[in-house]
Amino acid sequence: MSRSTLSRSEVRAKSTLRQIGAGIEVPPNSTRILRRWNMLEAVKSYSIEPEKLLLRSYRDGSIMSNQSLVPSMEDTYGAPWLLIHRANFQKVLAQEAEKLGVRFRMGFPVTKIDYSSLSIASSSTDTAIQVDAILGADGLHSMCRSEVQANCDSVLVTNDIAYRITIKADDMRKHHRLSELLAIPVINAWLGPNAHVVSYTLKETGLYNFVFICRVQLDGIGEMHEFFKGWDPRLCMLLDIAGKTRKWDLYTSNEMETWIHPKSAFALLGDACHPMHPYLLVASSKNLQNGGLDR
Ligand SMILES: Cc1cc2nc3c(=O)[nH]c(=O)nc-3n(C[C@H](O)[C@H](O)[C@H](O)COP(=O)(O)OP(=O)(O)OC[C@H]3O[C@@H](n4cnc5c(N)ncnc54)[C@H](O)[C@@H]3O)c2cc1C
Repeated sequence: MSRSTLSRSEVRAKSTLRQIGAGIEVPPNSTRILRRWNMLEAVKSYSIEPEKLLLRSYRDGSIMSNQSLVPSMEDTYGAPWLLIHRANFQKVLAQEAEKLGVRFRMGFPVTKIDYSSLSIASSSTDTAIQVDAILGADGLHSMCRSEVQANCDSVLVTNDIAYRITIKADDMRKHHRLSELLAIPVINAWLGPNAHVVSYTLKETGLYNFVFICRVQLDGIGEMHEFFKGWDPRLCMLLDIAGKTRKWDLYTSNEMETWIHPKSAFALLGDACHPMHPYLLVASSKNLQNGGLDR
């Protein structure tokens, strides 16, 4: 097989494992695997197990549906639903990997992969590493994807945009109406026209996690205020005390023919091969091209 060269103007490779992102929901399909790997208790020690999923009206936050998650997740799916800060999740996974003998090499932006000799190289460090197998887990803008399936158009841009906010729970406790949201561990989801908001508490961090999702490009908290005017007044109060927001364009994907290189010990993993929305959609490339997804 010929030597394969990967090039990209922006190659991202972290130089250290550090605090990143906000919260992540870890549903039973993932926690079941963690249990099988004897890692569930470690992950649980940093997690909150939400008792309920509350679907709320966007207008006043009144509860439209109250779905019990404990013990129904364990009873139905054989594993719990957890909420955790991404940094803590990454810490537990990294510690377990190190225990199993994995050595992390940070700050090594891979620019070249040789599938026949199984070596990876970085032009920035001018070194190559010989490996037994390669897992291409290089995320949404994967360089590895096209090495497995040429001309792959699996990643689809959607019109949906997520605005993530974390707020100190102590700041929320100063307001009676906001402290209600902290009373019991639940997932709150406000549903409105062409938009929704999800929130939950994060253990250990003293933070409350929010994701506002809509189809409009909003520039900062001021424009979010304007867009979500008329929603539950508590959301407007939360925006008032939120310092800043981070914006994420959301992507989804068409199914790839394969995630495994036909002639090499090389496979794709994670967003490199199957980026997904963090909620259900009826998606097809046709309605994406026509400017949106059906919810
Ligand atoms: C708003 C939002 C909310 C979400 N909520 C949830 C949720 O609640 N639950 C859930 O399960 N999922 C959720 N997701 C999806 C989840 O975040 C992703 O599926 C997950 O982070 C993908 O992980 P990954 O390791 O495949 O890719 P990434 O997290 O993108 O990691 C890829 C890594 O590869 C590195 N890299 C890239 N190129 C190179 C290179 N050439 N050399 C070396 N390193 C490289 C990058 O630096 C990065 O560290 C959410 C996503 C969004 C946007």
